[in-house]
Amino acid sequence: MGGGFGGFTAAKEICDRITDREDVGVLVIAKDNFFTFWPMVAGIVSSDIDSRNVAQPLRRALITAGASFRRSMLSKIDPENQRITLDSGVEFPYDQLVIALGGLPNFFGIPGVEEHSLTMRGIEDAERIRNRVIERFEEVSLIRGEIPESKLTFVVIGGGPTGVETAAELYNLVHEALGPDYPNIDPYRVRIFLLEGMDHILAALDPALRRAAQTRLVNQRIEVKTGAMAEEITADCVKLKGGDTIATENVIWTAGNRPNVAIDDLDDLPVDERNGIKVDEYLRVEGHSNIWAIGDCAAVPDINEENGQGIPPTAQAATQEGKAVAKNILAAIDGKEDELEKFEYKPLGTLVELGSDFAVNEVMGVRFTGTLAAIFWRLAYLARLNSPQSKAHQMTDWILGFFMRPAVTQVRGTSEK
Ligand SMILES: Cc1cc2nc3c(=O)[nH]c(=O)nc-3n(C[C@H](O)[C@H](O)[C@H](O)COP(=O)(O)OP(=O)(O)OC[C@H]3O[C@@H](n4cnc5c(N)ncnc54)[C@H](O)[C@@H]3O)c2cc1C
Repeated sequence: MGGGFGGFTAAKEICDRITDREDVGVLVIAKDNFFTFWPMVAGIVSSDIDSRNVAQPLRRALITAGASFRRSMLSKIDPENQRITLDSGVEFPYDQLVIALGGLPNFFGIPGVEEHSLTMRGIEDAERIRNRVIERFEEVSLIRGEIPESKLTFVVIGGGPTGVETAAELYNLVHEALGPDYPNIDPYRVRIFLLEGMDHILAALDPALRRAAQTRLVNQRIEVKTGAMAEEITADCVKLKGGDTIATENVIWTAGNRPNVAIDDLDDLPVDERNGIKVDEYLRVEGHSNIWAIGDCAAVPDINEENGQGIPPTAQAATQEGKAVAKNILAAIDGKEDELEKFEYKPLGTLVELGSDFAVNEVMGVRFTGTLAAIFWRLAYLARLNSPQSKAHQMTDWILGFFMRPAVTQVRGTSEK
């Protein structure tokens, strides 16, 4: 269940390992017939990256690998009878089940966040953010008198990689893509805030990289506020703990993730306090010998951490888990329990892009920033796109981007939630 970084990798890996077997078949069921290439989602905001290159065709990739695919939502698991039920009512039997349903935004119960903010949890979300900016530009260019500050103030909440990349892409959209098309709007009237509740943005990165990222953002006049906790969001402002408010009609929430809510409906599966499905070190759901869970929806223990912290919800972790679960499932099918391998996460590093000419990267302990880092970011992710068409299109777009500004338009009606 699920065709993202975890589910797709697991299916592909099993297929690669069973080319000479006829007794094993793989079926992937996911709610979308594309694989979202998450690292490139933020680039859609500025139109540096085209949505069609981020939505990687899933059906074709799976059929080519030797698996089957159905697009549907999971609604029920019946472990006793080894069956799943989809939202259409159709049932499928299984021998081994992998749950890889991903994550969703976490609003932590903060009043107004869900109603008044845009999220950054998919391709449509990134398009919605871009459309919101265009909508505001169009609106403001019709105003004759005083322009309310809230119209042109954009507040990104969450100083992790997604929030930082989103703020940087908003800057690019405003200054590079849209600015010259709206000569009556001074792009520096647009205020972009990045709010982080902790003392640092990019808390998981090395301090030198954090500083480099913050300096870059501040030089672009992005207003970075750390130790800033949003307490309430209304239609026209963000209220911060301590009493400050920011007048804005444009809030983007990137501050929290949680396991996919569909998990709440799946009875009988053990979950932790975040609702992540509890698995053992072999990625097997506790108490179930033939159900496995990986990726953002799972609470995967880190066998190298003594303080009990789990594996972080990242694409690289989900990919490694997908490979590991494939091996373990095949061992389980063959009744070779002694060949099950404990999952050991090997973090490869973090890449954060802040515009086409700047990134902060940490790769296997090597840290580097600037234009070279941005080129590395592009090449690393280009190489990881599955679809050859997307690779070609994206590479061409980036080359064209050296000579031309992206043409940015809004298809009406798509800036609302
Ligand atoms: C904007 C953004 C940028 C990110 N950038 C990075 C990055 O640069 N590097 C990195 O390592 N990590 C990044 N991440 C985190 C990374 O995307 C996730 O950790 C990773 O995708 C988890 O893989 P997954 O397989 O668990 O979920 P996903 O890749 O999200 O896949 C979930 C799958 O489940 C399917 N699904 C969902 N609900 C249902 C349902 N009810 N029924 C059936 N199918 C369902 C979906 O269609 C999808 O196929 C980013 C996350 C976001 C939001």
